[in-house]
Amino acid sequence: MINIAIDGPAGAGKSTVAKAVAKQMGLTYLDTGAMYRATAYTALQAGIDVSDAEKVEPMLADMKMDIVFEQGAQQIYVNGVNTTPYLREHYMSKAASDISALPCVRYKMVDLQREFASSRDVVLDGRDIGTFVLPDANCKIFMTATAEERANRRYLELTEKGQSVDRDALLADIVKRDYNDSHREVAPLKQADDAILLDTTDMSIQEVVDKVISIVEDKLKEETPSSADSSQAEKKTQSESVEQVRPLTRKERKAEARVKKRYKLEQKFGFYRFLRVFLHPLQALLWPTKLIGLENAEAVAGRNAIFTCNHYSKVDTFLPCFAIFKREAHILAKAELFENAFGGWFLHKMGAIPVRRGQADIDSVKCVLKVLKDGGQLMIFPEGTRNKEGTQDMAEFKSGTARFAIKTKSPVVPMLYYAPPKLFKRNYLYIGKPFELDEFYGDRSHDAMERATDIVRQKMDEVRELVNAYVAQKNQKKRKGGEK
Ligand code: C5P
Repeated sequence: MINIAIDGPAGAGKSTVAKAVAKQMGLTYLDTGAMYRATAYTALQAGIDVSDAEKVEPMLADMKMDIVFEQGAQQIYVNGVNTTPYLREHYMSKAASDISALPCVRYKMVDLQREFASSRDVVLDGRDIGTFVLPDANCKIFMTATAEERANRRYLELTEKGQSVDRDALLADIVKRDYNDSHREVAPLKQADDAILLDTTDMSIQEVVDKVISIVEDKLKEETPSSADSSQAEKKTQSESVEQVRPLTRKERKAEARVKKRYKLEQKFGFYRFLRVFLHPLQALLWPTKLIGLENAEAVAGRNAIFTCNHYSKVDTFLPCFAIFKREAHILAKAELFENAFGGWFLHKMGAIPVRRGQADIDSVKCVLKVLKDGGQLMIFPEGTRNKEGTQDMAEFKSGTARFAIKTKSPVVPMLYYAPPKLFKRNYLYIGKPFELDEFYGDRSHDAMERATDIVRQKMDEVRELVNAYVAQKNQKKRKGGEK
């Protein structure tokens, strides 16, 4: 699911922008302010003081709020009555602000908002979305503008509607609401640490919409995990974009449905363990591999960890799995492999996670985070592509490894094949020492991801030196033995 959080003070233009962004990106927009307004409206209708928690709380117990979309417009029904036409009245802003400060109201609204966001791709706007409602949102924006500019916008909006209003009173009202929203006890208005600040004072609505869309797209791209063969993926997505308007054939729809099913992580790994008993020795026979530094893998046994590896062929995906992962093997595999009924089933049973290459695959990201947050281990190819030349050089690293490691506080174990695995020949896989990217924990900035990715790269380069030295020494010994 894609979750976008837009927060900010009253009158910053959040709802107009969020609505337009949702429309252009095909997401559902939820106006959370309207939910507080509908609650305030219900209280006022019942003659209840919106600041009186003791009276509001019992009202909430009987209050059934339904959010529905009629001709694309959000409507809020409370106990079967559509409250939407009454929510934008001027006095409702103040009442909503007051009632929203009551913890019992906030908890009820936050539950409804989370439930809403859990089953759809959404843009939510409000005050506490990034900090409280959806702390794991894919993208958080904190939109603001000076109080004067916000009052001015509101003045123009109301006078255009023919209402006569006092500009100074509007300004005072906005300043008061800012204060209320920022000083309440539960989930006050505040920029989330990982939110991007957008000051819209000198921007037009269209400029803000364009900017928000570009921020969201960048974020979603960054979150897409790397997978094998991404260069091919890029080529494919280019040609796919031409075909996008063509409806899927029955066969394609079936394949798509098969892949979709595989985003639900397998929970039982008896099959993998059973299979491993046979395949591990068989593989050792076919591709005899010397594992150097196995103790480094053991050092992270029983806890979450990300193993990074260079990638030459299919063999190097399975080989370390059977050798290192005794219980389950979570690797990222291109989604196309799951289109085949048997292949998809097999990979799924092993614990593999599909990833749609060249796209922001949020379902894949969620699976990866779940594995790591639940204390599991994952193998990832940081280059996001297979090295078809079979050289020792590695391509540029994608930021997925660093991003996952930071977000889930997982140590990274750098592994490297000396060369492409060869049948019936001695192969070498070097497992380096685990390291943590702890200096970046809590930092989701682009700069942190770049620096952390550089560190992952450096660590892999160090392992390259170690494995080369190891093999050189082995060869030297062999030569000496031969000379004797
Ligand atoms: O955004 P809008 O002006 O419609 O919100 C009405 C009031 O509801 C705000 O002044 C704010 O106090 C409250 N609110 C909130 N948390 C949200 C959205 C709105 O406290 N997520």
